[in-house]
Amino acid sequence: MTPYFDHAASTPVDPLVARSIAAALQDPGLQANPASVHRPGRMAAARVEAARAEVATLIGAQVDEVVFTSGATEANNLAIIGAAQFRAGGGRHLVTCATEHRSVVEPFRRLEAQGFKVTWLVPDDQGIFGPEQVAAALRPDTTLVSVMQVNNETGVVQDIAAIGAICRAAGVLFHVDAVQAAGREPIDVRKMSADLLSLSAHKFHGPKGVGALFLDREHSRRVEPLLVGGAQEHALRPGTVATHQAIGMGVAARLATERIGVDPDRIRALRDALWTRLQCVPGVLLNGHPQRRACHILNISVVGAEGESLLLALRRVAISRGSACASNDAEPSPVLHHLGRSDELARSSLRFSLARTNTPAEVEFVAEELHAAIRHLRRVAPAGVV
Ligand code: PMP
Repeated sequence: MTPYFDHAASTPVDPLVARSIAAALQDPGLQANPASVHRPGRMAAARVEAARAEVATLIGAQVDEVVFTSGATEANNLAIIGAAQFRAGGGRHLVTCATEHRSVVEPFRRLEAQGFKVTWLVPDDQGIFGPEQVAAALRPDTTLVSVMQVNNETGVVQDIAAIGAICRAAGVLFHVDAVQAAGREPIDVRKMSADLLSLSAHKFHGPKGVGALFLDREHSRRVEPLLVGGAQEHALRPGTVATHQAIGMGVAARLATERIGVDPDRIRALRDALWTRLQCVPGVLLNGHPQRRACHILNISVVGAEGESLLLALRRVAISRGSACASNDAEPSPVLHHLGRSDELARSSLRFSLARTNTPAEVEFVAEELHAAIRHLRRVAPAGVV
């Protein structure tokens, strides 16, 4: 089997999750529409609500503050476009960070095209930006700030609680993309003063195709829905809820809650062991802050080695370049650009992302493969490139 080091892109479904989904699909008592008022419908709805409660517990929310979506892309779109449009009467200025995931960046771009003004905060060369940058960006007509908790390329963790406190004091809605944090960093919507928070189940050993948006009851109950045509999920996300998907996400959330005291330390130890093996190679550079990083991501650039050739040489390992969720493009990562990396170094970046399913033997294998790949590429590289 190819050792899998691409867990920031997607994690394997936990066997307990898979079993819960298979059981739900086969259970004659769970086939009704969970919105139906008859008994079978209510049975399905009860299981959806139990799953919702598990998701709420994972993030410290109340059960009625969680809306199921098709994933975090939808949750981010709903939070950002929905909140900006609903609040447009109070102002049309928004704040986000230039190193956000595309599912945050593109909704803001769309809003810009519709006449909203967006302030794009730029982090320092380690990927961090200060809460004071957010404070300085706020204007009387600011309605929404969106900042990710853990960056999906570098793993850098922002000071979300401090940023949230600034937004709350200013009466500005605060949205957090917590996709890479779930199961890896503690998430507490109250401590973060988050009004909106996005999750995707497949990033914490749940199924693909289901996610959730948290909406704080007091501060952000009302966002403009992206879809219309039904009253499901408080009419914020109309359409029949996928019972089995919600159940699977619920089990994954429960496991993530139970394991938050154990998994991150283990994953961090493996990740750091990998870095220890790699940092001795001349020209291997760490991208992102060395300490303020979630446990699972190691992002490096290799001086003098072209990213595409590196990936080819490393084909016995499942890793990715830059922002790997959707990266088959040869463009250098904009995130690394914002960290001040040159085009060349951004192009030669590799992201290793780990999970509880990785082993020390796999780490050793990956390290050996990378050593060999770099040796090979530097041997064949034209003079002056290395
Ligand atoms: N935000 C972040 C930080 C992510 O890493 C991802 C997944 N690549 C998303 C949002 C989107 O999640 P999904 O593809 O599951 O909709």
